[in-house]
Amino acid sequence: MSLTGKTAIVTGSNSGIGLGIARELARAGADVVLNSFTDRDEDHALAAELSQEFGVNVRYIQADMSRGDDCRALIEQAGACDILVNNAGIQHVAAIEAFPVEKWDAIIAINLTSAFHTTAAALPMMRKAGWGRIVNIASAHGLTASPYKSAYIAAKHGIVGLSKTVALETAEEPITCNAICPGYVLTPLVEAQIPDQMKAHDMDRDTVVREVMLARQPSKEFATVEQIGGTTVFLCSDAATQITGTTISVDGGWTAL
Ligand code: NAD
Repeated sequence: MSLTGKTAIVTGSNSGIGLGIARELARAGADVVLNSFTDRDEDHALAAELSQEFGVNVRYIQADMSRGDDCRALIEQAGACDILVNNAGIQHVAAIEAFPVEKWDAIIAINLTSAFHTTAAALPMMRKAGWGRIVNIASAHGLTASPYKSAYIAAKHGIVGLSKTVALETAEEPITCNAICPGYVLTPLVEAQIPDQMKAHDMDRDTVVREVMLARQPSKEFATVEQIGGTTVFLCSDAATQITGTTISVDGGWTAL
């Protein structure tokens, strides 16, 4: 699969799944725009490293996905957007009556509303280019629920609905819009939780991963950022031209339960 000549913007891509997706898109030949809200030297160095490794143009653009004007400015500043991956996301866990209002607002803004803004800004560019792919990173929690994650689950169900709507609005054009629904993915953030979980449950690593962290993932294996990146590249391939308005689960069987 060659994405040479395409420009991909991946929101929230200086770590974890977003970085994994950016790497696989660059490996497939796309020029990539990395993003986060941080704007550290390391962010620009990461872009230079990827550019060197894959021989494509990689830039870092700072933009805060909790702010609508920043979301739209990211797309405008990139100047082109053939592939848009809405990945930026945060989480907060609390019972609904104790859920801090500012956390609710931030989760809905970053995990859902940002995709409305970036999509609205990117679609005219895709139409002009005559080709476009929008990939929204939802979650198994875009299709199922768990207690204490009300904002996250509302946002992830919301982004599945947004993906379907954008797919219908672009159905007769060479543009597709889909959502990937990962189960538990082994990112540095998740890896860092393992020692604490081992202590809290007095279990060894394998047992805590199997019995606690992957309790709802029948494969008993984490998904990897490379697999989410590979699924994104597939959705950008010619084979996926008629795949639009749907979800692809990468969850080891979670949603089959
Ligand atoms: P992560 O914390 O490693 O990455 C989140 C990214 O979003 C980072 O690059 C961070 O800089 C960026 N970000 C956060 N707030 C931002 C803001 N205001 N503006 C711009 N960027 C911002 O987490 P991750 O696990 O890689 O998660 C990435 C996406 O995948 C999220 O949408 C998450 O909900 C989803 N997801 C993760 C898992 C998992 O198990 N890790 C499972 C399902 C879905």
